[in-house]
Amino acid sequence: MKSVLFFFLVTLGVFNFGHAQDSFPLRGFCIAAPQPDELDAFVQFIDKELAPRKVNTLILRVDYNYQFEGHPELRDENALSKADVKLLVETCKKHGIRLIPQINLLGHQSWAGHTGNLLRVYPELDETPHIKMPEKYEWPNADGLYCKSYCPLHPDVHPIVFSLVDEICDVFESDAFHAGMDEVFYIGDEKCPRCGGLDKAVLFAGEVNRIRNHLKEKNRQLWIWGDRLLDGKTTGMGMWEASMNNTHRAIDIIEKDLMICDWHYERNDPTAVYFAIKGFQVATCPWRNPDVAVMQVADIQHFRETATPEMKERYQGIIQTVWSGAGEFLKEFYSAEEAGKNTSANCFRAVFGAARE
Ligand SMILES: [Zn+2]
Repeated sequence: MKSVLFFFLVTLGVFNFGHAQDSFPLRGFCIAAPQPDELDAFVQFIDKELAPRKVNTLILRVDYNYQFEGHPELRDENALSKADVKLLVETCKKHGIRLIPQINLLGHQSWAGHTGNLLRVYPELDETPHIKMPEKYEWPNADGLYCKSYCPLHPDVHPIVFSLVDEICDVFESDAFHAGMDEVFYIGDEKCPRCGGLDKAVLFAGEVNRIRNHLKEKNRQLWIWGDRLLDGKTTGMGMWEASMNNTHRAIDIIEKDLMICDWHYERNDPTAVYFAIKGFQVATCPWRNPDVAVMQVADIQHFRETATPEMKERYQGIIQTVWSGAGEFLKEFYSAEEAGKNTSANCFRAVFGAARE
């Protein structure tokens, strides 16, 4: 009977032998920064849900949800104050959680029919000013308008965005910054007087390296989403989670000391291996499919266990990604009606149930 119990416990994972206990260096969570009236509930979520699951990295998509002092004209109407951010900073410090702010740079300067604050206030920075925002947004559309981009070669872009980046990293007391840079469809537009005719991979890499170099001056690391560095045609991954506009060759031009957030939501594509072989640190990012996410966790575990010492530390771990607002996510997380569904809340539970502490 003893041996039956023993094998039962082994099956349950009570004994992990055969290989040494190993945990991911990075156990991450990425979500929109809370609105001011969601702040207290979100702080409780950090205390009661993130900390007990040993989440050690929190990426907050801030964009213009902060009362910037350098560029007050770019603030959202209802934005977090410095005191609000300091509450997040102190809460994360208490639990040993690394807090990383995100502002979308280059792409994602509009969403559906809504222009983001940068191009609304400074329309001259638009890569495609000839493409007008529609009254009623629909996808697909004749302009191929998914999101607007800023022109990376416009001389007025970087003084503004680097001021935002420096201010947000300072207030978050952060040693890393997430610049987004995903799903950039508009780049090197033929009508742009600065970018027209240039190699899109070189343009993309130029912007990545410029942001990376700026952050490096203050010993901060650049984090980006990985999709623009994957070849959408050859892999069959398509235009969203990979590039169909020839930016993928940038992978051999950009600096290697970046963190790549490698998102795949429908399949456990083993692209972390590709990024690690190229020399990058990489984290796999699921969204709302718990079954796929558990396979992604197992993949990273396997990659780490079978890697050379050089490669092993590049497989940093996993980041659960949430694409709804913080308030909406908390509602979903605590709602009994959502149990068993493919939601980001259930995916979060599955990921940190599967990833060894
Ligand atoms: Zn341009």
